[in-house]
Amino acid sequence: MNYSRQRELILKIVQSDMSHPTVDSVYQALRKEIPNVSLATVYRNLNLLAESGEIRKIESLDGTAHFDFNTGKHYHFICIHCNKVYDIPCDVAPEVDKKAEELCGGKIISHDISFQGICHECLKLKKN
Ligand code: ZN
Ligand code: MN
Repeated sequence: MNYSRQRELILKIVQSDMSHPTVDSVYQALRKEIPNVSLATVYRNLNLLAESGEIRKIESLDGTAHFDFNTGKHYHFICIHCNKVYDIPCDVAPEVDKKAEELCGGKIISHDISFQGICHECLKLKKN
């Protein structure tokens, strides 16, 4: 199997996974199609796809990288218990970039906000 075909499959796996998959979960899914693929190959391709802007990389609290097919502006919520990454469907405030430009005197290209807390699933487990 050639390299571009591998990358295509990896992209497809990320695009079909709403849960912001980690390198390891992409690796597990890809092994079903390419049994002898290595974790390093998956890692390298995910980073290349993120560098080229085809997917987005999210660093979570414990240093685990998550990958997101949604490259549009949106925010994330990361659970401190289960480390799941959720989308926050709130509007992105355009005045934040403007304000930051005023403060730093430079040109803002993008910004990244992630919220940390306890997710609804972990809250439910705690109560029970
Ligand atoms: Zn949780
Ligand atoms: Mn997302």
